[in-house]
Amino acid sequence: MFDQFALHERLLKAVAELKFVEPTPVQVAAIPPAIEGRDLRVTAQTGSGKTAAFVLPMLNRLIGDAVVRTDVRALILLPTRELAQQTLKEVERFSQFTFIKSAMITGGEDFKVQAAILRKVPDILIGTPGRMIEHLNAGTLILKDVELLILDEADRMLDMGFAEDVQRLVGECAKRQQTLLFSATSGGAALREMAASVLRDPLHLQLNRVSELNEGTRQQIITAESTEHKEKLVHWLLANETYKKAVIFTNTRVQADRLYGRLVAEGVKAFVLHGDKDQKDRKLAIDRVKEGGVKVLVATDVAARGLDIEGLDLVINFDMPRSGDEYVHRIGRTGRAGAEGLAISLICHNDWNLMSSVERYLKQRFERRVIKGLKGSYGGPKNLKASGKAAGTKKKKDDKKKDDKKKGVDKKAKPAGKPTAKRPKNAKRDEPASQIVSQDGLAPLRRKKPAAE
Ligand code: AMP
Repeated sequence: MFDQFALHERLLKAVAELKFVEPTPVQVAAIPPAIEGRDLRVTAQTGSGKTAAFVLPMLNRLIGDAVVRTDVRALILLPTRELAQQTLKEVERFSQFTFIKSAMITGGEDFKVQAAILRKVPDILIGTPGRMIEHLNAGTLILKDVELLILDEADRMLDMGFAEDVQRLVGECAKRQQTLLFSATSGGAALREMAASVLRDPLHLQLNRVSELNEGTRQQIITAESTEHKEKLVHWLLANETYKKAVIFTNTRVQADRLYGRLVAEGVKAFVLHGDKDQKDRKLAIDRVKEGGVKVLVATDVAARGLDIEGLDLVINFDMPRSGDEYVHRIGRTGRAGAEGLAISLICHNDWNLMSSVERYLKQRFERRVIKGLKGSYGGPKNLKASGKAAGTKKKKDDKKKDDKKKGVDKKAKPAGKPTAKRPKNAKRDEPASQIVSQDGLAPLRRKKPAAE
């Protein structure tokens, strides 16, 4: 029940009006510390109820202080116009019994109209970083009085190249008292760096782990010998599985385009979604899939963030995602609300170890499936380590030395070109000194008491 939270009665009235009965796990975990004024780093995906988890405490803060407003008091930065619209709607629904005013500023809208909106000074401003920077540069936006800053889908803002803009906007909110950072995945080093630089003694809430996986979703793997073989498997699955809507994930844009081309050539009605597609293509693709005119979407992870398609019951991982979090994020879209879902990962030799790490992360063993007539030459590693990974694939140190000698590799020489994007071994060390509270579906969620100020 929402009355467990110390929220203003006008907000509780709005919650009741919206017929929200039970708070979702992210709301249970985030609302109390957010009301207390703590900085939070929350990992939770779209559909988890994360918007209300930050909107309610934000409104509670603004409603409680009878401050005369001269400038924007709360800023919500997020990656897309679509998300900005949804968030504005949510803010307006929750603030319907208050005098709090909110506004939205995103690209693709008239600048002058936006400047006029800003002159009226909303309490809450929601928007995408690029257009906010333009207003900042034009002097039409002042953020110096922002008390509360919220970064929503921060991982996606970074993926979309907004890091610098976000940092600048954060810098403008120098007097803020509280910062909340939400992301769909636990992200990489860039997100950790951002969290470390913008949050003060944050509480870290991780909510999109195993618990996000729906029990109604079956998880299978099919081994494949090559990309071509995977394409044949996809074709077979789309022709033979019973499904309403399917998403096929690839790790690269190139692969997404290639697979999309193949499917269309075979007469499958499909759409492709990746980072090179603009907002219009994206909206068209999502609308068509939602309406049901198109049943198949080929997508990369970045493009698919924030996607909430009802009736999605088949997910195919053309490539294995690079982390357990990303896997959960992909698969968590199927089998919503008690419906049945099917998740199939196609596993080549270079996907095997990733797959096995994900199995260990989830403490599950995926069903092994073979399609008659489409069995390839690769059926998994010949020998397995106790961990489930392929044994004997790593060269022994001595062999490697010999190989290097043969190839004339100079160990001391600096590598040419770009450094690899490989995650450093000690990457975790620069995590902000936060308390980590995780809900992995195996242990009950426990929220540590915030430390005394
Ligand atoms: P979000 O993850 O914030 O995008 O929310 C997903 C959807 O769930 C939105 O339409 C919310 O309005 C709705 N929602 C959020 N919290 C609750 C709740 N406790 N009860 C019912 N619906 C909710």
